[in-house]
Amino acid sequence: MQRQTSSTATKDPSEARPRAATVREVQVPEAITVARLAELVHATPIDLMKQLMRAGVMASINQAIDFNTAAAIIPAYGYRAVPASAAKAAAVADVEKDDPSKLIERPPVVTVLGHVDHGKTTLLDAIRKTKVAEREAGGITQHIGAYQTEYKGHKITFLDTPGHEAFTAMRARGANATDIAILVVAADDGVMPQTVEAINHVKAAKVPIVVALNKIDKPEADPEKVKRQLTEHGLVVEEWGGDVITVPVSAKSRIGIEDLLENILVVAEVAELKANPNRAARGVVVEARLDKSRGPVATVLIKNGTLNVGDFIVVGNVRGRIKALVNDAGRRMKSAPPSTPVEILGLNELPQAGDTLEAVASEREARVLVEERLQKQTGGRTRASLEDVVNRIRTGQSKELNVIIKADVQGSIEALREALSKLGTDKAQARTVHVASGAITESDIFLAVASEALVLGFNTSIEPGARRLADSEGVEVRFYNVIYTMVEEIRGMLEGMVKPVAKDVVEGHATVRAVIARGKQSKVAGCIVSDGRVLRNAMVRVLRKGQVLHDGPIQGLRRFQEDVREVATGVECGVVLANFDDFQEGDVLEVHHQE
Ligand code: GDP
Repeated sequence: MQRQTSSTATKDPSEARPRAATVREVQVPEAITVARLAELVHATPIDLMKQLMRAGVMASINQAIDFNTAAAIIPAYGYRAVPASAAKAAAVADVEKDDPSKLIERPPVVTVLGHVDHGKTTLLDAIRKTKVAEREAGGITQHIGAYQTEYKGHKITFLDTPGHEAFTAMRARGANATDIAILVVAADDGVMPQTVEAINHVKAAKVPIVVALNKIDKPEADPEKVKRQLTEHGLVVEEWGGDVITVPVSAKSRIGIEDLLENILVVAEVAELKANPNRAARGVVVEARLDKSRGPVATVLIKNGTLNVGDFIVVGNVRGRIKALVNDAGRRMKSAPPSTPVEILGLNELPQAGDTLEAVASEREARVLVEERLQKQTGGRTRASLEDVVNRIRTGQSKELNVIIKADVQGSIEALREALSKLGTDKAQARTVHVASGAITESDIFLAVASEALVLGFNTSIEPGARRLADSEGVEVRFYNVIYTMVEEIRGMLEGMVKPVAKDVVEGHATVRAVIARGKQSKVAGCIVSDGRVLRNAMVRVLRKGQVLHDGPIQGLRRFQEDVREVATGVECGVVLANFDDFQEGDVLEVHHQE
């Protein structure tokens, strides 16, 4: 990537190096230590400190100085300071503005999604083997998280981790790696909950779908029924005037695989997937692991440009220099063009899946970029809050409020859907990105991040991992147990109002160990506090197998016959609820209050 010297685009990183006579630009962050600045301008720290002193600034070697101070002294070394962030913005724009004449076709990147046991893994294996049969002997297939196959002279890249968790997790981190989604539906089983989830994830990503109607070798396979079910979820197949291609296959008997590949190429052709191989590489990490003998190893999918052995790179917050590139057949390569999955060696730490890779012109540039990324992370989040979304509706910039609904039972779902569909104003409408029964999961939160949606729980709870993710990602999750309340709140949002009152704060959880009868009076739940605390004046949701049975105030909280106001983690207590006493051993009491 071209980012520190001249403004003309160059293909060869070596051209990016300045000629000695010119004044060189160097990126300087808002604050920089004397030691680091010295490194950037190729001076000794002592020398730099003397310069600073002459300018009236006393700074020790590890002390940070600001941009203006740095900018004032480095011309003495033949450098000119440019703000690091401005340079970065220019570089990003550079990527988007690849000269169209330099773009050439690149292979499509395909992800396989679908319900469990519908045959995703078998299909990925079947596709991989079609290539092995064609290829000369000797290559050892490696599982590196992605592979490339070839059909009629065209390459196709497959991401090898089936399931929409990987897909959505990557999207939530801003890495859109997939060009085409294959939705696998077993024709004997039909559209199932995870099929619907996958459909909604892919729709949110605006990625074209090819449906593989799998297991057609089975006598009970009913592809026509599946097509009808798909239509109900907004995927209208070609035969019925829609644009969704369906291909009957049997992953197990290897029937229809070539037909599927053929159709992927058709969709790729329409999508006009292009990249510029003659530029510094950009990519995304598909998988990363620590290898005992080789150190940190990451599988990277090249999205643009070409990655070469010897390139300086930044991956997430990790620096490195490419020591070796290994493809999915276990062969060493000198370079990796766009859409190629490669294992890279030469990182000094382990990056994360979803991190972006950038090749840079020098080690120094790599350092600056890492520093900048770290600084950015400590700065606040940029994600739109619910208030932002509602503000956009109010000012007419947006016409949709995306919602994800999780409810206790199918019956509630129908009722909620119905109520929401009647809500739209001329200004805005509620759009349901995903609806399903069960607790709110991490997958729901990822989808919410990807589609800037609000998550609504109706008589349901949220898994602890999903709660943490929602908090860290700034996703708004609201709970209701009366349809009317939910509808009114959404109506308010569509009219441009956010009711900030209903923030639900979970104080802790207690597990019911014993149910104690108290004569004619209500039963007491003998509990142990598993996390957080129980507060006398809080509310309690009674959860059984993830479903909410009851939500209401605490009537009594006792410890050894004593009324108490608060019970801490690890301590036993007796809880009496107003209007509910149908406890069972194993129930979880979620203690919460509205802020
Ligand atoms: P995944 O969970 O979606 O990855 O599903 P798998 O690929 O593990 O397949 C689940 C089961 O379905 C396995 O027992 C496969 O052998 C079987 N299976 C997959 N594809 C086919 C097919 O085309 N026909 C038949 N009869 N069975 C299949």
